[in-house]
Amino acid sequence: MSTNKADLKGAVWQWAERIGVKVREIHLRQMQRKWASISTNGRLTLNTDLLNLPETLTEFVIVHELVHLLVPNHGKLFKGYMSAYLPDWEERQNRLKSLL
Ligand SMILES: [Zn+2]
Repeated sequence: MSTNKADLKGAVWQWAERIGVKVREIHLRQMQRKWASISTNGRLTLNTDLLNLPETLTEFVIVHELVHLLVPNHGKLFKGYMSAYLPDWEERQNRLKSLL
């Protein structure tokens, strides 16, 4: 099941609340070689190709980006948050990598 734009943005707001981070803007656009990016001030950009992915994978991308508002790198703390919010995040990440 893929997602529509409203659902995608809705999922971002829900996860932002759950994780306790502030997202200021959500942008959707075509991106090369990456699914999303986020700035330290909470400006989230999502690849429009996410709309064609299964919901479990878009959810992984959203959580990954939002956790970056807590931890800027992909170190141990980052992985700890990922495991707390999405226990199967590594499996989702592997599935996603096979698609790009
Ligand atoms: Zn990252």
